Amino acid sequence: MEEKKISEKTVRLLVALSSKMKDNAHCPYSMFPVGAALLCEDGTIFTGCNVENSAYPVGVCAEKTAISKAVSEGYRKFKAIAISSNLKDRFIVPCGNCRQFMAEFGFDIDVYMSKPDLTYTQSTVGELLPMGFEPTQLLDEDRIDDKSIEIDLDSVAKQTGIRKTSITNGLNGSQNGQHANGCV
Ligand SMILES: [Zn+2]
Repeated sequence: MEEKKISEKTVRLLVALSSKMKDNAHCPYSMFPVGAALLCEDGTIFTGCNVENSAYPVGVCAEKTAISKAVSEGYRKFKAIAISSNLKDRFIVPCGNCRQFMAEFGFDIDVYMSKPDLTYTQSTVGELLPMGFEPTQLLDEDRIDDKSIEIDLDSVAKQTGIRKTSITNGLNGSQNGQHANGCV
């Protein structure tokens, strides 16, 4: 297990709270309750559960609920998050969407993934989301001016040996689903 930034006692508290939060889950569709407990830098803890919706994609995960609660109360710096589910033999892992949601607030946040018996395994957001998109990637100085490049399809055709019309068809939605000539 990797070096921990918080005490074992605090981790156990987070895991227990996240497990308790499953009781509040609104999950009549998946019947898969998830709880989360988020530790802020100053020691404040926010909890969350999954909140599903009859329009399925509208629902939110427990991690997002906890983080949204914290952010809406003015918190931005988080040390750790614990997650619980009723999976008997497996540690619950955050979905891809939540990994990105957490990454917004730091790739170094510890993630404690637990089982119903309150055993857990630890990782970090960075380990769970390698090469993740991060806020700094939106900085202007890291980007080129999109008007400064122009893709020359003639030279692409020359380099690839694919007819320009085939490339253009691909760009416009290839006709009858056919590949550009020579592409597999
Ligand atoms: Zn999720």
